Amino acid sequence: MRVYQNIKELKEALYREKLQKHSIGFVPTMGFFHEGHLSLMKEAKTKTDVVVVSIFVNPTQFGPNEDFEAYPRDLDRDLELCEQVGVDYVFAPDVKEMYPDGYATYVTVESEMTNKLCGASRPGHFKGVTSVVNKLFNIVMPDFAFFGQKDAQQVAVLEKMVRDLNMNLTIIPCPIVREADGLAMSSRNVYLSPEERRDALVLSQSLELAKSLIDEGERSVEQLLKAMHKKVESAQSAVVDYIEIVDLESLEKLDVLNDRFLIALAIKVGKTRLIDNMRVES
Ligand code: AMP
Repeated sequence: MRVYQNIKELKEALYREKLQKHSIGFVPTMGFFHEGHLSLMKEAKTKTDVVVVSIFVNPTQFGPNEDFEAYPRDLDRDLELCEQVGVDYVFAPDVKEMYPDGYATYVTVESEMTNKLCGASRPGHFKGVTSVVNKLFNIVMPDFAFFGQKDAQQVAVLEKMVRDLNMNLTIIPCPIVREADGLAMSSRNVYLSPEERRDALVLSQSLELAKSLIDEGERSVEQLLKAMHKKVESAQSAVVDYIEIVDLESLEKLDVLNDRFLIALAIKVGKTRLIDNMRVES
């Protein structure tokens, strides 16, 4: 496994792979790995000749009062895990390498979809994501890029960017990996106190509750959201940011259920903002 901090050196190495007609699979991350990240790398290994992982806590996707500084980091452990999974290249640049003095270019998906859900509570977040992913795609030139459905809105926005800009790659969405008790894995779970960790279960439990109500025949979005709110609010440290049922592609709120939708929620558990979602397709 080779580790690069320098963009030019990584590009040269990957160019040599391209010349040998090796397909490139890319997994962009912010590090502090858990099984969710590793599942993307393993999936990439089954689909492509060469797997590239980036580890970069991207400042432009954090708001001024968010956790950029505090975001958990452990590069040595991450590199060990990459090695164990069989990753070929790791790109771990510092902020100056990605955003040198005078940096001024951003890519935005100018669609309402970026202002909804997480976009509403994190203004500018998706501009940061689409810009950094664009840069990373230009550096790595992957054939396939692997993203977790955990960040369902991110996948939808990036798929739109790739379509709109005719980018030469395919995005592969991968399933959400959960702890044994249902909590979606997240690097931010380390922020949780033992009580908050227990309360955080209301995210997955409220999704399961909605699913079982739907299976029993409930079609009213209002009733489903009401039941989910009640479940979430039963946990002392949980405060709802949003709970929504939206169309899978446009992310528009639904009044009545269609046959392909996303139930998505963001909940503050203590100071930690957690997200989860479930795709329902019938
Ligand atoms: P992050 O490091 O949080 O930016 O995440 C890097 C990638 O891992 C993104 O594509 C995430 O959607 C994905 N990811 C994070 N958590 C999970 C999870 N629990 N299951 C599957 N993928 C995940």
